[in-house]
Amino acid sequence: MLYGMKRRKILIPEPRSRFILVRCPNCGNEQVVFSHSTFPARCLICGNTLVEPRGGRAKIKAQIVRVLG
Ligand SMILES: [Zn+2]
Repeated sequence: MLYGMKRRKILIPEPRSRFILVRCPNCGNEQVVFSHSTFPARCLICGNTLVEPRGGRAKIKAQIVRVLG
């Protein structure tokens, strides 16, 4: 008897958290933030929100300068 093969979709693991160098769109300050931050990261200079947590994955609202890995 043949059983239907249940194909499992191979889940591509999300890239792990990374440190990202971002530039504040407000004042130009560059600062390192966490890509999967669970808490909002704010610019140290002007207080502008740079990273906004959204259910596990953070939304980066600043300009990404470099991914540090
Ligand atoms: Zn700023």
